[in-house]
Amino acid sequence: MRYSMKLFLCGMLVCLAGLTLSPEPLHAQAKAKRGKKDADVPGVADYQSKNFMVRTDLPPDDAKDLLKRLETMLALIEKYFEQKLKSPIGMFVVKDINAWPKEALSQLDPAGLNSVQTGGGLTIGQTQTSNATGQVLDAKAVVYAVADRGTPQHEAVHAYCILSFGRTGPTWYAEGMAEIGQYWTDKGLGVHCHDIVMKYLKSQEPKELTEIVDVADSTGDSWENYAWRWVLCHMLANNPNYAPRFKPLGLGLLNGKDVTFETVYGPMAKEINFEYQFFLRHIDQGYRADLCAWDWKAKYTPCKGSTPFTAKVDANKGWQPSKISVESGQSYDYSSSGTWKTSATGTAVNADGGEEGAGRLMGIIFDEYKLSEPFNLGAYGSFTPPQSGSLLLRCEDKWHELADNSGKMQVRLKMTGKGNPLPMPDVKANAKDAPAKAAKTKSVEADKSK
Ligand SMILES: [Zn+2]
Repeated sequence: MRYSMKLFLCGMLVCLAGLTLSPEPLHAQAKAKRGKKDADVPGVADYQSKNFMVRTDLPPDDAKDLLKRLETMLALIEKYFEQKLKSPIGMFVVKDINAWPKEALSQLDPAGLNSVQTGGGLTIGQTQTSNATGQVLDAKAVVYAVADRGTPQHEAVHAYCILSFGRTGPTWYAEGMAEIGQYWTDKGLGVHCHDIVMKYLKSQEPKELTEIVDVADSTGDSWENYAWRWVLCHMLANNPNYAPRFKPLGLGLLNGKDVTFETVYGPMAKEINFEYQFFLRHIDQGYRADLCAWDWKAKYTPCKGSTPFTAKVDANKGWQPSKISVESGQSYDYSSSGTWKTSATGTAVNADGGEEGAGRLMGIIFDEYKLSEPFNLGAYGSFTPPQSGSLLLRCEDKWHELADNSGKMQVRLKMTGKGNPLPMPDVKANAKDAPAKAAKTKSVEADKSK
């Protein structure tokens, strides 16, 4: 059978070496060890688990911990792609290259050696593909990685993709997914990335989505580009508005099908772009893209007439539809009943909130994919929206700390001066230390801290 060979080089960035979680750069560690006796230098040994064969100079406990993390991450990847790894992944994981004897070094691929020496990682993959059918006949992958907390996991994602599908997909997808693997922790679904990456993302204007998915991009270009690919993949994988299409898209890309980001998400480009910008405006360690997902299906009715509308607001979610639309310059009344908490151990408060405004009921206006400044609401009062549009509500709390919130609020809304006055909130139901400030009319004030 005729076949073609394809060689993959999926490089982890050299510049990411500065991001390792070890307290000092690799070269400094090596320098420190050179003067010590051999007994102080851990030897190179092989470790094996079900799916990984790792040769490393890590101390035995660290090596076993690495295998455990790799196996746990692999189990999640296998579950996600619904495909078991076909053959084990061979890995060279280097803590201190000077600890490696000459014979061990001579077995390393020069490109792989170069990549770990410069503090990065490299996956060398080789596939045999049938010229007739395009089917992958055989695949091999070897990983070279520095022994930080992220690089072996990043490279292992590439190796899994090569071994399972014979390809890693376009750069934005390959590197975005490998970064998700790198940042994987067992601490839940929240955002988790290197602090320097977070700082960079917060300091930048969001990169255009079309630039992130540019097919002309190549692996190993810059750590900043990796950061954007990760942001996009994290959002698409975790936001329920996009996740159901993200997996088939990924499988299509990995199986060489004729699909692209544009063909899959083109029809929802406005929504994706809005949520991508929103994600980056509020991103921080622990931010939950699932809890802050936008409800695009909600219908908004103009708030007119004498019958009040009732909205339900959960404390642990982002902006939620009130299901009414409002007019700029018009006054509206609100009355909120219920209590909620903005932390697992905190005190329940009413919609006026507690200390520093945490737990206060907030409003925002959405119109044509643009948001107004958020404004304060509370337990009882009136407001005049800063512009016309759909009203959304939320419980004030740090955007990356919503997951531990609990409780919900029932908010009654109506046009001021129409029908009967709204009932006062049930004060007894509210916490003692947060008395309802009843009958106080509030004017809209933009939250300057946003
Ligand atoms: Zn990579």
